[in-house]
Amino acid sequence: MAQIDILEQTQSIVRDVVEPDASRVDQEAAWPEPGLRAIQAAGLGGLVAPVSAGGLGYGMLGLLQVCEILGRACPSTGLCFGMHCVGTAAITAKHTDQQHSQLLEPICRGEHLTTLALSEPGTGSHLWLAETQIEHHEQGYRVHGRKAFVTGAGHCDSYVLSAVAAEADAPPGMFSCVVVPSDADGVVWGQPWDGLGMRGNASTTMDLNDVSLPAENLLGEEGEQLWYVFNVIAPYFLMAMTGTYLGIASAALEEARQHMRKRQYSHSGRTVADQPVLQHRLGQLWGEVERTRRLAYHAAAAGDAGEEQALPAMLSAKAEVGQSAVHVANEAMTLCGGTAYREHSRLGQLLRDARAAHVMAPTTDLLWTWVGRSLLDLPLLSD
Ligand SMILES: Cc1cc2nc3c(=O)[nH]c(=O)nc-3n(C[C@H](O)[C@H](O)[C@H](O)COP(=O)(O)OP(=O)(O)OC[C@H]3O[C@@H](n4cnc5c(N)ncnc54)[C@H](O)[C@@H]3O)c2cc1C
Repeated sequence: MAQIDILEQTQSIVRDVVEPDASRVDQEAAWPEPGLRAIQAAGLGGLVAPVSAGGLGYGMLGLLQVCEILGRACPSTGLCFGMHCVGTAAITAKHTDQQHSQLLEPICRGEHLTTLALSEPGTGSHLWLAETQIEHHEQGYRVHGRKAFVTGAGHCDSYVLSAVAAEADAPPGMFSCVVVPSDADGVVWGQPWDGLGMRGNASTTMDLNDVSLPAENLLGEEGEQLWYVFNVIAPYFLMAMTGTYLGIASAALEEARQHMRKRQYSHSGRTVADQPVLQHRLGQLWGEVERTRRLAYHAAAAGDAGEEQALPAMLSAKAEVGQSAVHVANEAMTLCGGTAYREHSRLGQLLRDARAAHVMAPTTDLLWTWVGRSLLDLPLLSD
């Protein structure tokens, strides 16, 4: 399917299903099931999955643009769909025949949702440092530990999870990625998500109490977690989240534009849009969103093309969009006045949702630090 068709199809799902459900998702902290199921039914579940499995074979630019459209209407849906696609990209990267038939093909048929379970309570935003342990057990593996903030917890069909070798004689840093099915014995979910924003993302803790997994659930080779995190998960994650937050920034800008044209004063008959200082402020916000969008599209295209400067561009795009989504939503609230400050206002939701950008790893401070390190030819992860 051509990229333009995919974007139009996403827009039509947003119009018919995602947008009408967005305030319920926020107010009830509800997993955005109707929207996600509509996306799957339209064949977009396999957006970044290989064509051989029935997928659409899109890369980071396609993912960014789809998440932007979703994020404009319902940021929680953008986040959950983005995580599904990042998990799909991780499974795709070095898939076996069995992973092709048991995971990728169902993903492409719209029968399987996946997500990421990397973060942990102990290591927090350093999500490449898993403490969850994996050891050889019978013909496969046994996993023990606790994951935190797992998006789509209890709703997805599988979880792409990171773990460190438990065996005393394992080489240091022997981290691996595995796929944990939702019905695995020994998985216990924490309390439902009740966050300030992204209220539909259903993040919670995932306890893994000696969960047994078959050998086929390993992604790539043992000890390859860092390769997955930095070559697949980080780039796809950065672009999915950049798209979602770009959607928030665009939606906030549009809210302000519409309000300024509509709000008319009884004493003068003039609108907010007639005030030169506010015209100037709106113009500045447009410039901020547009330059962030250009950087984001450029970064995703560079990532798809495997360009050398793709990494700092993608890191910067996520950092920039985090700042501009929060700033634009905040400024738009000022332009829309007291009505935007009321409970359950659309701009209130966008501001709360945008705020997640700075606390979700890689967090904004870490992103800027990594950009600096990459320019200085220093290793990203050194202290
Ligand atoms: C809505 C939401 C959804 C999420 N979904 C997922 C998911 O699906 N899967 C998943 O694995 N995780 C997910 N996360 C977790 C997320 O990616 C982070 O791991 C988590 O938010 C870290 O929280 P923390 O309180 O442990 O942060 P901390 O690690 O305590 O960090 C606190 C602050 O200190 C800063 N900081 C710490 N060390 C440094 C340093 N060296 N340099 C600069 N700054 C530093 C951080 O940037 C941050 O601003 C989600 C989080 C949220 C909020």
